[in-house]
Amino acid sequence: MTNHNDEVGDDDIGCIEAINGLYAYLDGEIDDRKSIEAIESHLSHCKHCFSRIELERALSERLKKSGLGKPPERLKNRLRDLMDKFDDEE
Ligand SMILES: [Zn+2]
Repeated sequence: MTNHNDEVGDDDIGCIEAINGLYAYLDGEIDDRKSIEAIESHLSHCKHCFSRIELERALSERLKKSGLGKPPERLKNRLRDLMDKFDDEE
């Protein structure tokens, strides 16, 4: 993992928090602006998360078109497993 010139502040919440927060946000569990801003600020500078989010966004779009609307729990759990592995690498 390389972190080129990305300046990461001490207040950065980290990849796992950002992704988990994003899930919570999408589920409507988070609605305070500070949490959302913390998630967004991480996602905006983190290339790891960005590609992850893009992948998931593409999946969601596809699911929406197929009429399901939201990713099924099974898919979410699978993505969470992937993120746990990702966590171990750091
Ligand atoms: Zn990240």
